[in-house]
Amino acid sequence: MYPHRFKYYRPSSLDEASAILSELGDDAKALAGGQSLIPLMKLRLSSPAALVDLNFVPDLSYIRRANGSLHFGAMTRHADIEHSEIASRIAILHDCAAGIADSQVRNRGTIGGSIAEADPSGDWGPVLLTLDTEVHTIGPAGPRTIKLGDFFLDAYTTALAPAELVKEITVKIPAKNSGGAHVAFKRCAPVYPSASAAATLTLEDGDTCKDIRIALGCVGLTAIRPTEAESVLRGKKLTSKNIESACEAAMAAADPQTDMRGSADYKRMLVGVLLKRGIHIASRRARGEQVEASHEYAGRI
Ligand SMILES: Cc1cc2nc3c(=O)[nH]c(=O)nc-3n(C[C@H](O)[C@H](O)[C@H](O)COP(=O)(O)OP(=O)(O)OC[C@H]3O[C@@H](n4cnc5c(N)ncnc54)[C@H](O)[C@@H]3O)c2cc1C
Repeated sequence: MYPHRFKYYRPSSLDEASAILSELGDDAKALAGGQSLIPLMKLRLSSPAALVDLNFVPDLSYIRRANGSLHFGAMTRHADIEHSEIASRIAILHDCAAGIADSQVRNRGTIGGSIAEADPSGDWGPVLLTLDTEVHTIGPAGPRTIKLGDFFLDAYTTALAPAELVKEITVKIPAKNSGGAHVAFKRCAPVYPSASAAATLTLEDGDTCKDIRIALGCVGLTAIRPTEAESVLRGKKLTSKNIESACEAAMAAADPQTDMRGSADYKRMLVGVLLKRGIHIASRRARGEQVEASHEYAGRI
């Protein structure tokens, strides 16, 4: 289906984009990669009267390393992150970028659009929540920095004010002896996962978990931080028994819904399996091993 008619604006700065959005009000939307917005418009589930295209705003697509952090311009495509040597410094970022849908979606979709969309099934939310991530914005009230933990308020709802735009996402490079992994279960490549688990941990003395952050995707209205599961492992040895207990705590924290991707019970079971695999890969990476973390596909788990 064709979308409803809309006006099209092509600002040349983020300030100009925000000013246009502010003037047009709720009827206007920013356009990034269009991988969520355009399908919704074609299905007529969203019919904005105007689109404000961010694709021609200069210096919004970059990956830089500075001051102990990686900096991602809001318009950086998933594929740019997938192929970036700088981003590969944090392996879980590569897991995420390389696992999103297919190359068409990865070539267009952006990290800024993904977090602004706040889709409960999106991959960037859980992955970035396991890291020290901040969102830098520009809006009518000026620039702002929002901790990612305060950014997602509900399904498809963020802390962004009207006409406020994501400008940059910064991710602190984890401490020495840290590693992370993101494992998702999918019915096939070009669809969102049925469930996913991400973990970033820091080891000391080889096998003691000094610190860990876990986040679950697709099993709640936002990505879930199962803090009980983190407490089970923090300061403890990464034994099979402790990992098993953490996975059980994570399964208890999950709040999945039955839908076309599976029953709530099935998704809860997936959380346990995926998190266990994620923690194993993360701990091997924390010890300096190069480990591939590929997503799991139906029929293989
Ligand atoms: C077939 C298919 C499969 C997919 N599978 C996955 C998957 O497995 N995992 C996954 O994570 N994602 C998946 N996606 C979604 C994809 O990752 C999109 O890139 C993402 O959801 C939105 O990013 P975008 O750049 O396309 O944003 P758009 O669609 O352009 O915009 C999305 C929303 O964010 C707003 N927005 C965009 N940029 C900004 C900004 N800078 N500041 C403020 N608001 C902004 C827009 O106004 C809009 O409301 C899939 C998409 C498709 C079509």
